This record gives sequence, C-alpha cells and structure tokens, in this order.
Amino acid sequence: MTLDDLPIRDDLRGKQPYGAPQLDVPVQLNTNENPHPPSAALIDDLARAVRHGAATLNRYPDRDAVDLRKDLADYLGHGLTARQLWAANGSNEIIQQILQAFGGPGRSAIGFEPSYSMHPIIAGGTNTRWVEGARDEDFSIDVGHAVQAIETHRPDVVFLTSPNNPTGTALPLGVIEQITAAAPGMVVVDEAYAEFARAGTPSALSLLPGNPRLIVTRTMSKAFAMAGTRLGYLAADPAVVDAMLLVRLPYHLSTLTQAAARVALAHREELLATVGTLRAERDETVAWLRHRGLAVADSDANFVLFGRFPDRRAVWEGLLEQGVLIRETGPAGWLRVSIGTKDEMAAFRAALEGVLG
Ligand code: PMP
Repeated sequence: MTLDDLPIRDDLRGKQPYGAPQLDVPVQLNTNENPHPPSAALIDDLARAVRHGAATLNRYPDRDAVDLRKDLADYLGHGLTARQLWAANGSNEIIQQILQAFGGPGRSAIGFEPSYSMHPIIAGGTNTRWVEGARDEDFSIDVGHAVQAIETHRPDVVFLTSPNNPTGTALPLGVIEQITAAAPGMVVVDEAYAEFARAGTPSALSLLPGNPRLIVTRTMSKAFAMAGTRLGYLAADPAVVDAMLLVRLPYHLSTLTQAAARVALAHREELLATVGTLRAERDETVAWLRHRGLAVADSDANFVLFGRFPDRRAVWEGLLEQGVLIRETGPAGWLRVSIGTKDEMAAFRAALEGVLG
C-alpha cells in the first residue's frame, strides 16, 4: 500500500511534507532554535506548574486560555488586551487557523518568496490557492511590484514575514502600511523572529490600531527558547479573535501547554537575556562570512543566509561530515545557518574552513 493507492484529495497528490532533517549530531544549527536549554530554576517552576495542572487533568483545559492571553498581552505591551490575543500550538497552528477562517476553497493567499516554506504548505492543507510573489535580488520587497501583484491576484490573505525566513530580511513599516492599504483581505505579518531584530527595526504591532485586517503572529519557539512547548500566538483586532473561535478545535491548547507557557512568560527576563548574546553572535557570524569572501544577506533574525555555492549540497554534506548540521534552503546556491552558542559557532566556522579549504 502506498499513499497513491489511498483515496486522498486530488490536490494533495504528489505533494512533499515539511522535512527539515532531525539528525542527532553534535552541532545542530538547522531549525532556528535557541541553543540555550531552560535553567534549573525554570525547570523547577515548570515542574511545579505541571504538578499543579496535573491535579485537574480529568477536566478539559480553559478553552479560551484567558490567563495565558492576558500574560501574552502584558508581554507585548503596545496597549494590547487579552481580547486582541489568541494562542495555539505553535505559530504554525495560528497560521492554519487564519487560513481556515480567511482562506479555503475558492480563495487565495500570496507570499513573497523565498520565504517561510510552511506558508504555502498550510495553504495547501486548507485548500487555499497559493500565489508566489517575488522579492528583489537583495531579498527586500519592492512595494510597487508587491502592490501590482496584489491588484492582479486579489488574494484573500497576504503573508509578510518580517524578519523573513530564510533570508533574515526585515520589512520597513512603510512597506507593510502600503501593502495593507492595497490588500483587499487580511494581511498577516509573521514576526516569529521579531525579538532578534537589530535596533531601529520596529514591530508591526504599532500598526494594529485602526487596521482591523492586520494580524501579527509571534511564537515562543525562538527568542523564548521554548520550541518544545509548542506555543504560538497572534495579536489583532478582537473581531479576528472571534474568527479564530469559529475554526479552532475545542480545548486545542492543553492544560500543560498553557501552564508551561505562563511559567516561561514569568521567566521572560532570564529567557530573553539570551537574545542579546545571540544577536551579537549573529553579527559576528555575518562579519566573518563576509570576511571569508562569501555573499551574506543582512539578518534581523537568529540565522544567517550565505552563499553562493556552485554545489551547495556538497558544502552542506561536508559540514555534516564534521558534525555540523545546517539547512539547505533558500534560493539555489545559498545555505542557512542558525545561530548557536559561541562554541557551536566556532565549530561551524572551523568546519566551513575545512570544506572551503
Ligand atoms: N514562522 C516562521 C517565519 C518560522 O520560521 C517558523 C518556524 N521555523 C514558524 C513561523 C513556526 O514556528 P512555531 O510553529 O514553532 O511557532
């Protein structure tokens, strides 16, 4: 029996699943995680919260995750309230819920590529037609071209990823404002990496007042170093949250997930302290790669896109042979390395020297 023998939806036939390799190697720099594991104090508080939550596991969780949403609003600031926040199992589930509510059969979504590979995959899963917009050579978005594409295709959902994965490129607020003004439907600014942005790169959260069709998505998987918790969220007009209530599965966020996320938010000072170190390490990595004569995209995220290699697969394999796993992604010839600890980045540089000779 193969997949093709099953009566699967025609539009899913021949599609490839999301597939970042999960390999057990010493230096894992391929999925943009935060390399710092939780502290002993955080683990103790998590264990206490899980013990407390476990006492009521015979009951369903708070279906609307109200306390967690209050904590998230408090973290984001910008005068946001719990009514404007919504949470789910990773920002991937948030994106899925957005497309369930605003995309779907007969509807379309646009993204400006290269960008996050899950946007088109989740569009496919929700039967939303995907339109591939383009970026400039330097990976920025040309507003004129973007507005033209939006006017041509009239997408129901526009995805703007800032800072963008896999390029690290952040969008100026002016670009987001002009695209929002031109979009006939919803505009999603995927800010999974917002906390890593360089000074002077503002968040689209400041654009929410007066823009009820704008959604900003965030995650605790990156800066908060909580990828294993699976907690993503959005900030938007309360009416958008009402739309999410129509499509979410009841009790989608487990009692333990809600508890773990709240503990992490309570420890945010300690967790976000790693962000400064990672930013510095990123800037040093960019400088080193450029010094080494490679092309490097400016990065506002916790990863760096570099190249260009006539045979990027050979470089990726050469690094892997030395125990360093990075990601073969982005346009032809480019590779992406996530920012790890000082030691991991030293291992990456040594391995790359070994490959490049
Ligand atoms: N958006 C972007 C741009 C990402 O790179 C990622 C993770 N790689 C996500 C969303 C999803 O992250 P999560 O589901 O862990 O919140």
